[in-house]
Amino acid sequence: MEQIVEFLKTMIGVWPTAVRSPANQCVFAFLVLLLVLDIARKGWRLSWSRLAVQSVAATIAIFNINLVLAPTIWLLSDQIKALYALAGIPSIPTSAWSAFPVWALMIIAIVAHDFANYWNHRLMHMKWLWPVHAIHHSDPHVNALSAYRIHALETLVMWGSYTILLTWLGLPADAIGMGAVILVLHTIYVHVDVDWDHGPFRLLIASPRFHRWHHANVPEAYGKNLANVFPFFDRVFGTYHVPGPCTAPMGANDVPQNDVVRLTLWPVLEWTRLTLEQIGILRGRIGNMSRRDATLPGQHMAKVDAE
Ligand SMILES: [Zn+2]
Ligand SMILES: [Zn+2]
Repeated sequence: MEQIVEFLKTMIGVWPTAVRSPANQCVFAFLVLLLVLDIARKGWRLSWSRLAVQSVAATIAIFNINLVLAPTIWLLSDQIKALYALAGIPSIPTSAWSAFPVWALMIIAIVAHDFANYWNHRLMHMKWLWPVHAIHHSDPHVNALSAYRIHALETLVMWGSYTILLTWLGLPADAIGMGAVILVLHTIYVHVDVDWDHGPFRLLIASPRFHRWHHANVPEAYGKNLANVFPFFDRVFGTYHVPGPCTAPMGANDVPQNDVVRLTLWPVLEWTRLTLEQIGILRGRIGNMSRRDATLPGQHMAKVDAE
């Protein structure tokens, strides 16, 4: 518990420190100047600044909501570990990796994580999990910050699978930790608003172009480019889609763009809607069946005969 309080204090303490830094103040001042000029030129409603302010504010708010929920995720990860040990599922002992240098173990951790993540992500693009993942796709202007636009429930699933898989593999904690840092940096990189491709290495390491196609709001790109780091998983499993530079619009249909409250509640709202929809379909089927029974007297006769 003390660890969690310390962690929260450190994370929340980052903001005042960042705001006090003279370098950051210069950057803020420059950004504010750009905003003022843009708004003065086009007016608030028509300006590009309005969208930028809304988008950045929504992402920062979602990131902070996640931060508050982080201790829950942390505690749950520990529970998963404990349950895993309790279940007595045979796993690879950490000593099995003692001959490998730490950098090799780090690469194994990243590859293993990315493989699991590919399938998690694929599930997230299916009907019932999409309301959770849609928050990440809600940003109509994908940028480095969009990497943090993730629903707390998704973070829970991702960390849960990460813990289960890597503890099963018995990888040492330092390799897992270093791997996690590289994963975070790479995730930010692929969301940067540039059209960079990796030439002959495009299948080896995901580029911003590869991930922009994942966020493209055009039917041919839906459910494509699901790997975080290694596009060869998409090539192997048939979901690779990079036809060229990505100029397609970003975002997702029928998902609130920057409304933080609705985005946070979105899974519950959508699951309620989908459940009601399913109940309606089921009722319709039952109604059809009883109507069919009523119009097929022969069947009843046959049953009566059999009795
Ligand atoms: Zn996705
Ligand atoms: Zn993304």
